[in-house]
Amino acid sequence: MTSRRTQRKKRRSPYLFIILFAVLLIALVIVSARAMNTWNEYEAEAAVTPVPTATVRPVSVTPDPNRATPTPAPTAAPSPTPSYLSAGAQGQMVAELQTRLQELGYYTGKIDGDYGSGTKAAVQAFQQMNGLDADGVAGQKTLAVLFSDSAVPKPGPVDTLAGSVPLLVNKWNPLPAGFEPADLVTVKDLAGNVMTYERDSIQAVREATEALIRMLKAAQADGISPWKLREAYRTVADQQRIFNNRVKSYEDAGNTHSQALAITRREVADPGSSEHHTGLAFDLNVPGQYFVDTAQYLWLKKHCWDYGFIMRYTDEKDDITGITGEEWHIRYVGVDHAQKMRDLDYCLEEYVEYLNR
Ligand SMILES: [Zn+2]
Repeated sequence: MTSRRTQRKKRRSPYLFIILFAVLLIALVIVSARAMNTWNEYEAEAAVTPVPTATVRPVSVTPDPNRATPTPAPTAAPSPTPSYLSAGAQGQMVAELQTRLQELGYYTGKIDGDYGSGTKAAVQAFQQMNGLDADGVAGQKTLAVLFSDSAVPKPGPVDTLAGSVPLLVNKWNPLPAGFEPADLVTVKDLAGNVMTYERDSIQAVREATEALIRMLKAAQADGISPWKLREAYRTVADQQRIFNNRVKSYEDAGNTHSQALAITRREVADPGSSEHHTGLAFDLNVPGQYFVDTAQYLWLKKHCWDYGFIMRYTDEKDDITGITGEEWHIRYVGVDHAQKMRDLDYCLEEYVEYLNR
């Protein structure tokens, strides 16, 4: 019996071995299959990862990988800088132009995107100040300078009565570009009906205007009236217009352009060199009469000095002033200077040279 049992045992063992082997084999297959699977997954991930980095790279041109949204930047800057804007233009580009002109001090109007006369004047003032052709058109060159760091801002107003020597302006001493006198007032606002006006908007420097009012009231107390104010402060744009009109009138009268220019330059200051630009000069007038023939002129010639005014252009000194006689044109320099100039019989050029000696 024992032998049989052992025989059975002996017979069973190879089956067991085979089964065990089979189980082991299956287990091995399963484990390796799983391992293959994870490897495949890993490989899949590895294969996918380079793809997004490859697509991110060309987008983020900047080496900063933290900038996740560099894409909107190029699309959000659709400003293909305009190359030409002129009066009548409208829209966002004009608003940007106005904003920049305002930053630089040239534009004080509304940012409304309308290229009107105010915007044009601001562009002209900017062009003058920056050595550009002052045509009031924002062309490529003007826009390039305007939006650059080298754009020259508008200078502040100048106290024309500061300093111990009166401000001298003539064709040899033009005022700097962008010059604007400080403390301008509308003459009519202060003087009311002391005189009549060529335009209600005529402006001048306050101190000079107050002196003019004192003087004309004194003249009226002496029975000398009426008085009309023809001109005072004049901008460079005004000067250019007047100069061009005068040249044209001489051309129309049959002169060549260079002849017309030469005659005009004897009579009208070159734009930028007009004393009217200081806000200290006044052109007086008696309506309907030639000024030199009037009692007003005689009174003025005698008394203006005591109110701080000089007769700026006389025929006797026209070779020094460069301007032929203008009996109606008076210039405020303050009482001390005016009285000294009367006593010395100096025109302003002589007097300034005398003071500087
Ligand atoms: Zn004048």
